Amino acid sequence: MKILIAVDMEGITGVTTWDQVTPGHAEYSRFRKLMTQDVNAAIRGATEAGADEIIVADGHWNGSNILVEELDSRARLNTGSPSPFSMMQGIDESVDGVLFIGYHARNGTANAILDHTWSSKTVANIWLNDILTGEYGLNASLAGHFGVPVIMVSGDQTACAQVNELLGDLEMAVVKQATGRFAAECLPPEVSQEIIYMSAARAVSQLNEGDVPDPFVLDTPVRVAVEFFTSDMADRATRMPFTEREATRVSFTAQEMASAYNGFRAMVMLAIG
Ligand SMILES: [Zn+2]
Repeated sequence: MKILIAVDMEGITGVTTWDQVTPGHAEYSRFRKLMTQDVNAAIRGATEAGADEIIVADGHWNGSNILVEELDSRARLNTGSPSPFSMMQGIDESVDGVLFIGYHARNGTANAILDHTWSSKTVANIWLNDILTGEYGLNASLAGHFGVPVIMVSGDQTACAQVNELLGDLEMAVVKQATGRFAAECLPPEVSQEIIYMSAARAVSQLNEGDVPDPFVLDTPVRVAVEFFTSDMADRATRMPFTEREATRVSFTAQEMASAYNGFRAMVMLAIG
């Protein structure tokens, strides 16, 4: 059984501020270590439940956060940027299930640590076939394109609930209770990582038994609409061919989800300028 562990940083144990997830900041070195430990807890749970191949995708910032020297030796690490599938690098038809570790809620969500969508200064909202979603929806629908279900998520209570609402009843490891964008009641690593371990083990056991949510498959063609924060971002995003614009909202249609995913990435890169 092959598992992809897709990792972000905002939903990692103890994280509540941008400083903690921003390379170059003094706080960051503490939290990349905790990020690695949260991932190791998931690897331990998944392997004990029967996973025999584990790929980890480092999906935060430039994808160079997880400490490879401290990574559980049973996994391989996709690191660096840009890679063909970014936060989901390693996904294909050979993967049996995806675990989301350290995930966060979409931009504009109350009681959600560091809520944002892909680029915190650029993207206000994204819709896939008129479904308002966040990074979790983009990544889950890319997995769905390859016929792969997302079977577990870790993060704050709001991020977990949002993923659960979109994808159905999946395993949730709540590592902190957010009381705002920059405030949460956090479990210490010893406790949160035990929860992640147990949750990953249960998710992979359920996958073995066929008792997990269906892959999240969008109807094709896929309509992607992105609302940017400012009109100059929309000006630049509209340079992408075959787009339509309405105020700060720019949209396009892709034949299938892999193209939609990378079209979205290209559009955001243009918008950032
Ligand atoms: Zn991130």
